[in-house]
Amino acid sequence: MRFDLIIVGQGLAGSVLACEAQSRGLSVGIIDNGWKLSASMVAAGMWNPVSFRKIISVWRDQECMEALQTKYPAWEKSLESQFYFDRPVMRVFPNQEYADLWAKRLSEGMPWIQAVHELPDRVKAPYGAGLVDQAGYLHLPRFLQSVRDLASAESRLLEEEFDPKYLETDAGRRTPDKPVVYKHWQADHLIIAMGTSARKLSWYQGLPLQTNKGEVLDVSVKDFQRYITANNGKWLLPYNEEGYKLGASYDWRTDDLETSDEVREMLLEKVQLMLDAEVSVVEHKVGLRPTVKDRRPLLGELETRIWSFNGLGTRGVLISPLLAGELLNHIFDGAPLHPETDLNRFK
Ligand SMILES: Cc1cc2nc3c(=O)[nH]c(=O)nc-3n(C[C@H](O)[C@H](O)[C@H](O)COP(=O)(O)OP(=O)(O)OC[C@H]3O[C@@H](n4cnc5c(N)ncnc54)[C@H](O)[C@@H]3O)c2cc1C
Repeated sequence: MRFDLIIVGQGLAGSVLACEAQSRGLSVGIIDNGWKLSASMVAAGMWNPVSFRKIISVWRDQECMEALQTKYPAWEKSLESQFYFDRPVMRVFPNQEYADLWAKRLSEGMPWIQAVHELPDRVKAPYGAGLVDQAGYLHLPRFLQSVRDLASAESRLLEEEFDPKYLETDAGRRTPDKPVVYKHWQADHLIIAMGTSARKLSWYQGLPLQTNKGEVLDVSVKDFQRYITANNGKWLLPYNEEGYKLGASYDWRTDDLETSDEVREMLLEKVQLMLDAEVSVVEHKVGLRPTVKDRRPLLGELETRIWSFNGLGTRGVLISPLLAGELLNHIFDGAPLHPETDLNRFK
């Protein structure tokens, strides 16, 4: 079979790329090992244009939000599925100093943020709270399943372990006009979107792709509202009709996939500081976020016709629609990559 593009890895990165490529009329083959090691299947999938640590807009906020707000709803239509949900975030202030900083940002006209005048029932916020109403989450398991079902129905899915030894890849011999060949598939280009598993590929030696271990709890909460995410440094997200998600932890020191009792207790203690309701754990999940030492993604050419779409980090849902478009513009039209995403910054 012949494609414009083969994508290796069908997590968030590979799925967003596939949707963006197909919306441009490109043909796409997907290779994935069945979400064996997938951050995306664990993630809460939240998006929010504000970083709460210093109360500032996130990196490229306007561009990312514009891409997010147009692309996911369009892909919901083309995939005939619902996975994109609005869910405003209420930031519960930890102290008076933080409340003062929020008020200062409001008076400076910072976009996205608002004051909160009335707290939902059962929320404890002695120093007050603020709101970001353009926020929400992507139901990642549903999004990924929809992309996979379509690829499978159109015989564009190889559900197996990608092994570069089957790739006719000889940097010395390959000429720019020769297609990429992987087993019985051919394509003009192949994009690696394997998340943290890409670290074992020789192309990534010398690139600072790292892991950031994260744990999240699926919880049930008795008699609590379902329309706002509450955040006091940890967050409680009303998730579809399935309950709530409570998270998350961040650990750069290890790449094991063990859940920890300590993290579970820490999350439960923290949520009780802002919530007067009974919380019980349904499931405890863990995953490895693909991240980069300068907290920017790794996009660009690994070898002739072999590309990287990786390192989406903690805000993959928000940044990936914009960046997938930029990578495809680069590959097919020669448009320059944003310098902070170009993997050549490490060469
Ligand atoms: C606890 C937690 C909470 C998070 N919460 C959020 C959040 O709220 N919002 C947000 O934006 N981000 C969040 N993230 C981060 C987000 O998960 C990542 O940015 C994103 O999922 C990375 O997607 P990816 O496709 O690059 O990697 P992955 O999801 O890891 O996908 C890689 C895919 O490649 C496949 N693969 C790997 N190796 C091979 C191989 N050799 N052959 C075939 N297939 C292979 C894997 O099985 C997988 O399907 C969270 C992460 C964690 C762990």
